[in-house]
Amino acid sequence: MTGEQLPAPPPTVTPETELFWRATAQGRLLIPRCDDCGTSVWYPRRVCTACGGRNLTWTEATGRGVVYSYTRCHVPAKPYKGIESYFLAYVRLEEGVDVMTNIVGATEVYVGQPVTVVFSPVDETAALPRFTPTTPP
Ligand SMILES: [Zn+2]
Repeated sequence: MTGEQLPAPPPTVTPETELFWRATAQGRLLIPRCDDCGTSVWYPRRVCTACGGRNLTWTEATGRGVVYSYTRCHVPAKPYKGIESYFLAYVRLEEGVDVMTNIVGATEVYVGQPVTVVFSPVDETAALPRFTPTTPP
Protein backbone atom coordinates (compact mmCIF):
# COMPACT_ATOMS: atom_id res chain seq x y z
CA MET A 1 0.00 0.00 0.00
CA THR A 2 1.01 3.57 -0.56
CA GLY A 3 0.26 6.48 1.69
CA GLU A 4 -1.25 4.39 4.50
CA GLN A 5 0.51 6.41 7.15
CA LEU A 6 0.33 9.82 5.59
CA PRO A 7 0.67 12.58 8.16
CA ALA A 8 -2.36 14.83 8.62
CA PRO A 9 -1.00 18.39 8.78
CA PRO A 10 -3.44 21.02 10.06
CA PRO A 11 -5.40 22.81 7.34
CA THR A 12 -5.52 26.56 6.87
CA VAL A 13 -8.94 27.56 8.21
CA THR A 14 -10.58 30.70 6.81
CA PRO A 15 -14.02 32.19 7.45
CA GLU A 16 -15.16 30.53 4.19
CA THR A 17 -13.88 27.08 5.21
CA GLU A 18 -14.48 26.98 8.97
CA LEU A 19 -17.79 25.07 8.69
CA PHE A 20 -16.27 22.68 6.15
CA TRP A 21 -13.41 21.75 8.47
CA ARG A 22 -15.68 21.42 11.52
CA ALA A 23 -17.81 18.93 9.56
CA THR A 24 -14.78 16.87 8.54
CA ALA A 25 -14.00 16.35 12.21
CA GLN A 26 -17.43 14.68 12.43
CA GLY A 27 -16.78 12.55 9.34
CA ARG A 28 -18.97 14.65 7.04
CA LEU A 29 -18.02 16.06 3.66
CA LEU A 30 -19.84 19.33 2.92
CA ILE A 31 -19.89 21.11 -0.42
CA PRO A 32 -21.37 24.58 -1.00
CA ARG A 33 -24.34 24.48 -3.38
CA CYS A 34 -25.94 27.47 -5.05
CA ASP A 35 -29.60 28.00 -4.08
CA ASP A 36 -30.16 30.03 -7.25
CA CYS A 37 -28.86 27.67 -9.96
CA GLY A 38 -28.11 24.39 -8.16
CA THR A 39 -24.42 24.30 -9.04
CA SER A 40 -22.03 22.78 -6.52
CA VAL A 41 -19.00 24.98 -5.94
CA TRP A 42 -15.47 23.99 -5.02
CA TYR A 43 -13.42 25.36 -3.31
CA PRO A 44 -15.60 27.06 -0.68
CA ARG A 45 -16.22 30.74 -1.45
CA ARG A 46 -18.92 33.37 -1.05
CA VAL A 47 -20.01 33.53 -4.69
CA CYS A 48 -21.35 30.87 -7.09
CA THR A 49 -18.88 30.27 -9.92
CA ALA A 50 -21.72 29.57 -12.38
CA CYS A 51 -24.20 32.43 -11.84
CA GLY A 52 -22.54 34.83 -9.42
CA GLY A 53 -25.27 34.19 -6.85
CA ARG A 54 -24.48 34.71 -3.20
CA ASN A 55 -26.96 32.21 -1.76
CA LEU A 56 -24.79 29.20 -1.10
CA THR A 57 -25.86 26.40 1.25
CA TRP A 58 -23.60 23.75 2.70
CA THR A 59 -24.80 20.39 1.39
CA GLU A 60 -23.59 16.98 2.50
CA ALA A 61 -21.80 15.20 -0.34
CA THR A 62 -22.17 11.47 -0.97
CA GLY A 63 -18.43 11.03 -0.48
CA ARG A 64 -18.23 9.09 -3.73
CA GLY A 65 -16.39 10.03 -6.88
CA VAL A 66 -13.88 8.93 -9.48
CA VAL A 67 -10.23 9.69 -9.98
CA TYR A 68 -10.05 12.49 -12.55
CA SER A 69 -6.25 12.79 -12.58
CA TYR A 70 -3.40 11.70 -10.35
CA THR A 71 0.32 11.49 -9.88
CA ARG A 72 2.50 9.33 -7.67
CA CYS A 73 4.84 11.60 -5.72
CA HIS A 74 8.28 10.18 -4.97
CA VAL A 75 9.76 13.45 -3.71
CA PRO A 76 7.51 14.26 -0.77
CA ALA A 77 6.32 17.74 0.09
CA LYS A 78 7.57 18.99 3.47
CA PRO A 79 4.74 17.62 5.69
CA TYR A 80 5.22 14.18 4.13
CA LYS A 81 8.97 14.01 4.64
CA GLY A 82 10.12 10.41 5.03
CA ILE A 83 7.21 8.94 3.08
CA GLU A 84 8.50 6.80 0.21
CA SER A 85 5.68 7.73 -2.15
CA TYR A 86 2.05 8.73 -2.13
CA PHE A 87 -0.76 9.50 -4.56
CA LEU A 88 -1.86 13.08 -5.14
CA ALA A 89 -5.08 13.27 -7.14
CA TYR A 90 -8.04 15.22 -8.32
CA VAL A 91 -11.24 13.35 -7.49
CA ARG A 92 -14.40 14.33 -9.33
CA LEU A 93 -17.19 14.03 -6.77
CA GLU A 94 -20.68 12.89 -7.75
CA GLU A 95 -21.68 16.51 -7.10
CA GLY A 96 -19.55 17.52 -10.11
CA VAL A 97 -16.65 19.29 -8.41
CA ASP A 98 -12.98 18.33 -8.55
CA VAL A 99 -11.22 18.09 -5.20
CA MET A 100 -7.45 17.84 -4.75
CA THR A 101 -6.71 15.04 -2.31
CA ASN A 102 -4.67 11.94 -1.61
CA ILE A 103 -5.59 8.41 -2.62
CA VAL A 104 -4.86 6.03 0.27
CA GLY A 105 -5.19 2.28 0.69
CA ALA A 106 -4.19 1.60 -2.89
CA THR A 107 -1.18 0.10 -4.63
CA GLU A 108 -2.36 1.30 -8.03
CA VAL A 109 -4.54 4.20 -9.10
CA TYR A 110 -6.13 4.82 -12.50
CA VAL A 111 -8.22 7.54 -14.12
CA GLY A 112 -11.89 6.71 -13.72
CA GLN A 113 -11.30 4.59 -10.60
CA PRO A 114 -14.28 4.72 -8.22
CA VAL A 115 -13.26 6.07 -4.82
CA THR A 116 -14.90 6.84 -1.50
CA VAL A 117 -13.99 9.46 1.07
CA VAL A 118 -12.17 8.54 4.29
CA PHE A 119 -11.09 11.01 6.95
CA SER A 120 -7.60 11.35 8.43
CA PRO A 121 -8.00 13.04 11.82
CA VAL A 122 -5.88 16.14 12.44
CA ASP A 123 -7.29 17.01 15.86
CA GLU A 124 -10.74 17.60 17.41
CA THR A 125 -11.43 20.48 14.99
CA ALA A 126 -10.57 18.99 11.59
CA ALA A 127 -9.83 15.90 9.54
CA LEU A 128 -8.39 15.64 6.05
CA PRO A 129 -10.75 14.16 3.47
CA ARG A 130 -8.84 11.58 1.47
CA PHE A 131 -10.14 8.90 -0.85
CA THR A 132 -9.73 5.15 -1.10
CA PRO A 133 -10.76 2.75 -3.86
CA THR A 134 -14.42 1.82 -3.53
CA THR A 135 -14.88 -1.83 -2.73
CA PRO A 136 -17.59 -3.47 -4.83
CA PRO A 137 -20.81 -4.21 -2.88
ZN1 LIG B 1 -25.40 29.67 -9.03
